[in-house]
Amino acid sequence: MAKLHLLGLPRIGPDRELKWALEKHWRGDLDQTGLQAVAAQLRQSAWQQQAERDLDLITVGDFSLYDQVLDHSLMFNLIPKRFRGTPGLTGLDRYFALARGWQGGEHKLGPSPMLKWFDTNYHYLAPELDQGTQPELDATALLAQVSQAQALGKPLKVTLIGPITLLWLSQADTEEGFQRLDLLEPLLQCYLSLSQQLNNVGITWLQLDEPALCVDLPADWRAACERAYNRLAASQLDILLATYFEGLRENLSLAFQLPVAAVHIDVVRAPDQLVGALDRLGPNKQLSLGVIDGRNIWRTDLESALERLRPVQERLGDRLWLSTSCSLLHAPYSAAREAHLPEALHRGLAFAEEKQAELELLKAALNEPDSTRVTQQLDDASSALAALASLPGRSNDRVRQRQDQVTEADRRRGQNAAARKKIQQQTLNLPLLPTTTIGSFPQDQAIRETRKAFRQGSLDEAGYQARMAAAIEKTVRLQEDLGLDVLVHGEPERNDMVEYFGDRLEGFATTRFGWVQSYGSRCVKPPVIFGDCQRRTGLTLDWMAIARKATAKPLKGMLTGPVTIIAWSFVRDDLPLARVADQLALCLRDEVRDLEALGIDIVQVDEPALRELLPLRKTDRPAYLAWAVDAFRLATSGASSGTQIHTHMCYSQFGDIMANIRALDADVITIEAARGELVLVRDLHEAGYSADVGPGVYDIHSPLVPSAEEMQKRLGQILLHLPAGQVWVNPDCGLKTRNWDQVETALTAMVEAARQQRKLLARELVAAP
Ligand code: GLN
Ligand code: ZN
Repeated sequence: MAKLHLLGLPRIGPDRELKWALEKHWRGDLDQTGLQAVAAQLRQSAWQQQAERDLDLITVGDFSLYDQVLDHSLMFNLIPKRFRGTPGLTGLDRYFALARGWQGGEHKLGPSPMLKWFDTNYHYLAPELDQGTQPELDATALLAQVSQAQALGKPLKVTLIGPITLLWLSQADTEEGFQRLDLLEPLLQCYLSLSQQLNNVGITWLQLDEPALCVDLPADWRAACERAYNRLAASQLDILLATYFEGLRENLSLAFQLPVAAVHIDVVRAPDQLVGALDRLGPNKQLSLGVIDGRNIWRTDLESALERLRPVQERLGDRLWLSTSCSLLHAPYSAAREAHLPEALHRGLAFAEEKQAELELLKAALNEPDSTRVTQQLDDASSALAALASLPGRSNDRVRQRQDQVTEADRRRGQNAAARKKIQQQTLNLPLLPTTTIGSFPQDQAIRETRKAFRQGSLDEAGYQARMAAAIEKTVRLQEDLGLDVLVHGEPERNDMVEYFGDRLEGFATTRFGWVQSYGSRCVKPPVIFGDCQRRTGLTLDWMAIARKATAKPLKGMLTGPVTIIAWSFVRDDLPLARVADQLALCLRDEVRDLEALGIDIVQVDEPALRELLPLRKTDRPAYLAWAVDAFRLATSGASSGTQIHTHMCYSQFGDIMANIRALDADVITIEAARGELVLVRDLHEAGYSADVGPGVYDIHSPLVPSAEEMQKRLGQILLHLPAGQVWVNPDCGLKTRNWDQVETALTAMVEAARQQRKLLARELVAAP
């Protein structure tokens, strides 16, 4: 009999209860007891739901108030140096201080670094380790949850992040030769004492998540993994080693040699590893197969899953477990509430709840193949899948034909970068060190309320247009007054840079409750790409026309690139991503043409997520980068030589993808370089990058506004690495999270800094022999 379990469930609550409670708590309107009560309720309902389903083990430990990695930092006393010995900062206060930073009088403590959880859109808080870190166990919080769950009277499985992954995700202060693995031994002591304590209260199964085994793990880490699990074999508990997000590949043998009771592998992302896993399983180990995609929202093809599972079941019997590929943390709660969608699309969706039902059905189909109820349900599932496949808009002949006719020439600009630069200089007539912004201006209360009123129907189309036009005109005027060289319309109409385009393109649908946690209380509701993407009318033309009328200065149109749209959406799984990317690129290509016709000579195509989608394994990266770059080029290469194509990316570490950045063949790239040292500028220069670059001269993420002198100093440093004729002056990202006062002050200083620097350069030129 195959068994069922889950690696983890969503935890923000079906109506984002956790978000609201957290934010209320931070505002001071909900005390700790109140917040803990909401948390306990959310855990209870997740367990209740598992108890009602046909699950063989109920999972405990997957809940977190803010972030599961941070929970481990506290449980194991991995407290950053600056937080040690801050008296009075205890319990939940300390927890949130680590997550969000803390200020007590003069005393200020920065938050833990927030990093991406493997290749997902979830962000975790990295433990910061140093020579003085002393791992120590405090399992109070976890044990309280265990006893809360035991009241259900069902068998439990406790889940934790494994020691290797926990250390791998940490940051180390490498002074005095300290290395993360130096802490492995004391950390293992903590894991062992914890197992003992869990054993004492009657727990038998411990799930240790080791997704780090699915990345390019260096040899010393692989050896450490072997050491660690040999030590953990002393535990009384049965250990389930959980791997996901990719195949184990060269770590497959390692994982199956470890003295653990069971191994979980992801056979959605890496179906081929099943054969190798079966070969290496041995007679005693159990195998958990992640057969349902934990990260997407589509119904599973159960018939083909069964076809693969039946022989495994025959071979393993009750040593076979079934689960989702990874934790359901990355999926929304329930598709049942999306009945506003076309029926075939609605039935084609499977959120966390429906995925659990799919697992139940798979188990039933394996265990009682002759049941008519099961056959009936499988038939229903197949017909839903068939309906999804023939959903109107799923396949659009016009889109497919156009896509098939795309040639290599369509991905090449008419002239090379140098020739384009000359033409653009003539038409745009920009000064040295031109000033611009990244696109968005403050999204104040009034703008947000206008959008909301329009969405909810209390403001009509004409009223909405009028208010947005006023906002655009105001923003344009402000930029003219400040003396910026390249203006933008300010993006007041965009709630989100992906959702906005999703709402306007064919092939997209919007869910009502499809929220997933991004970090802490922050959730996102990704659009759904279910069909072939096509642009029916202009995406940004109305707004850009208003801006065009409002100024005679150079104006920059603002589009979101294909890769970023894909990264921040739920994408159909029946078409290669490269195909979807090209469809989006063609939509953008048409928009670029129409912007040109409006008299817009500069178009920025934002790709902040280009690096985010980078595959976990190095060997998979070239293929990804090839289609990502291709799609960008397809979107932008229809532009005439006189049109200046900008792109923007929100990170500065791309020494390793420099060649690909260059291959985008953009005329200008603006990047986030205001925070880190100028590594990137150096990287660019060393790689012989010859297009224009705008390394942010100030950090928009901070409310602190630097002075003109500070920005000029920054500019001076940039100019040590790049010739002035190649440099733009801009903030490091969009301004939508700042207020108007901050923006006005900052941009005034920025324009002044550019002026001063130009003067300085002119003087140097005169002084030169
Ligand atoms: N154009 C967008 C803005 O200015 C870019 C945002 C981003 O880089 N994430 O808001
Ligand atoms: Zn940015």
